[in-house]
Amino acid sequence: MTFAFPPAPVVCVPVLGTSTMFPVHRIYCVGRNYAEHAQEMGHSGREAPFFFMKPADAVLVVPTGDTVDLPYPTLTKNLHHEIELVVAIGTGGQNITVEDAPSHIFGYAVGLDMTRRDLQNDMKAQGRPWCIGKGFEHSAPIGPITPVAVAVDINQATIHLEVNGQPRQHSALSQLIWNISETIAQLSCAWTLQPGDLIYSGTPAGVGAVMRGDTLHGSISGLGHIDLKVV
Ligand code: MN
Repeated sequence: MTFAFPPAPVVCVPVLGTSTMFPVHRIYCVGRNYAEHAQEMGHSGREAPFFFMKPADAVLVVPTGDTVDLPYPTLTKNLHHEIELVVAIGTGGQNITVEDAPSHIFGYAVGLDMTRRDLQNDMKAQGRPWCIGKGFEHSAPIGPITPVAVAVDINQATIHLEVNGQPRQHSALSQLIWNISETIAQLSCAWTLQPGDLIYSGTPAGVGAVMRGDTLHGSISGLGHIDLKVV
C-alpha cells in the first residue's frame, strides 16, 4: 500500500514520569458541567450537561516547566480560557456503568478548552454547530497525563487558573454536576469509547478573555500545572 501523501502524525500526550506517549483518538468535551459556570453563561445551572467534540489535532502539548506559545486564533476578538480536568481513557467500551467507569481511566491531566466566544455565541444565536467556536487549532492545550496509579483522589482536588498572575477561575472538582464516573457512563451511551480518548470535563465559573501577551497558569492540586503565553 502506498499513501497519496504522508499520513498525519499520531497526536500524542506525554505520560508523566515515563518515556511513554499516550496516543490521542478523540477529544470529547462536556458543556456546562459546573452550575455556577452555566449561570454565568445565562442558564439556570439545573439543566443536564451535554457533549461536543474537538479534533484530536487541536491538542497543544504543554510540558511541565515550559511556557508554551498559544497562537491567538483567526476570526475572533474574544478568545476565552476554560480551565478543565482532562480524563484520559485507557480502556474503551459502550454502555459503561458508573460503578465500572473508574476501571476505564488511564489517567488525568490539566487542560484548557480555549473558545472563540464571539463565534460560539453567534452560532448559538443561529442554532448552528459550535465547531468554529470550539474546534480550532491549538484549542486544546494539555499538560502531561498523570496515570491513575499515582494520581490523587480527584474528588478531593481543586482546579485553578491565573491570568498574568491574577486569579480567574477556582473550584473544587467535587462541584462537577456529572462527576467523572457519571460523565464516562453518559458518554459511552452515545459513542463507543476507545483507548486514547480524552474527555475535557467542563469548566468552573470565571471564564474570560485573554489577549496577545497574556500568560496563563492552570493547575489542579496533585496533577501539576501548565503555563502558556498568548502570542
Ligand atoms: Mn469547556
